[in-house]
Amino acid sequence: MDIEATVLTAMSELDLGDAFTFDEVVDAVQRYTDRPLRIVELTELNESGGVCAVLLVGEAEDVVVHARSESLLHRQQFVLHELAHVILDHGDDPHVASQDVLLPDIPPMTRRRILARQDLESDDEVAAEVLADHLAAGIRRSASYESKFMEIFG
Ligand SMILES: [Zn+2]
Repeated sequence: MDIEATVLTAMSELDLGDAFTFDEVVDAVQRYTDRPLRIVELTELNESGGVCAVLLVGEAEDVVVHARSESLLHRQQFVLHELAHVILDHGDDPHVASQDVLLPDIPPMTRRRILARQDLESDDEVAAEVLADHLAAGIRRSASYESKFMEIFG
């Protein structure tokens, strides 16, 4: 698996350009998969438990559940990582361990596939992290355009 090529292909298929907002990423993912996507913060998840975010691939929608975090950037990275799994179509990987026990509020029917951010050794995990980094870089560029705009006109 050529991870860099896979990630660059995904970036070009998302068609986001060089700079984009987080919301634009979410819209692009929904367009790309043609499925609704929900992002939910769950207070029961916490970073000290080792799980930052999970992806639930349901019959009709994808749900990213993420831990509460003080750091907006940190939280954004959790979510981008899970979005990367959606984009890279990792939801049906039978080797991915499920983590049902952590998610008391999620109905069983949505638990078709759960990815937890634990095994950073696998190619899927590395690819998701690399794609998340590309997405984060685009969001940073967009934020810096906005702040330049504010400097000049604000
Ligand atoms: Zn992952």
